[in-house]
Amino acid sequence: MIVGDLKPIDEIISMIAGYRKILVLGCGSCVTVCLSGGEREARQLVRELSHPMHYVGDPPEFSVGSILRQCEQDLVVSYQKIEPGVDAVLSLACGAGVQTMADAFEPLPILPAINTTFFGASLKPGTWSEVCRGCGDCVLSHTAGICPIARCAKSLFNGPCGGSQNGACEVDPNIPCAWMMIYYRLKMQNKLHLLDELRPPRDWRNGGGAGPRSRIRTGVGNPQ
Ligand code: SF4
Ligand code: SF4
Repeated sequence: MIVGDLKPIDEIISMIAGYRKILVLGCGSCVTVCLSGGEREARQLVRELSHPMHYVGDPPEFSVGSILRQCEQDLVVSYQKIEPGVDAVLSLACGAGVQTMADAFEPLPILPAINTTFFGASLKPGTWSEVCRGCGDCVLSHTAGICPIARCAKSLFNGPCGGSQNGACEVDPNIPCAWMMIYYRLKMQNKLHLLDELRPPRDWRNGGGAGPRSRIRTGVGNPQ
């Protein structure tokens, strides 16, 4: 899922300066699960933002809402109502949700209250870790289900850098070396031969960096 963190309150206060009626809108999917942008967090944020100490004059008027997915244009166009007089939306969605809302309600300003950080997995309650970079050509079948792009500090593709110490990464001793983990899991799976296999150079064109990537599925809103 997509993991995000609430921006510092001072940054949010300066972002909303000049707006008088603001809808603070949570998103009911990923950011709800990672406890940063759901309806509960939207209500907490409004409580914090309503404090007069943040303003020279009167605080703006806030309303609170939430919608299941801000990143789905059909959903927001059909179900998200914006009250008359709202002059900005402070969105607690990821960057995809903020941009979908901005397209759907153009020219209404949709402001990001969240820093979108990574694709993560929940390791234990309250802890998420980056595990995927959305590279577009998954290699997990060769790396024992451990992503060398997201979990190796150097995103090395063909084995370790050689700097690992006692199983820890040389870049950050607090994280395990991804290639150490790959090696030992492949060994447990009796698949160490995968490390010796020559693979063709990777085609990074699906990996982004050449404009926005898109996917079109036929039969789902598109002709067969
Ligand atoms: S190889 Fe690519 S798609 Fe697979 S987990 Fe890593 S970044 Fe994600
Ligand atoms: S020590 Fe391991 S995880 Fe760290 S950069 Fe080198 S190969 Fe990657």
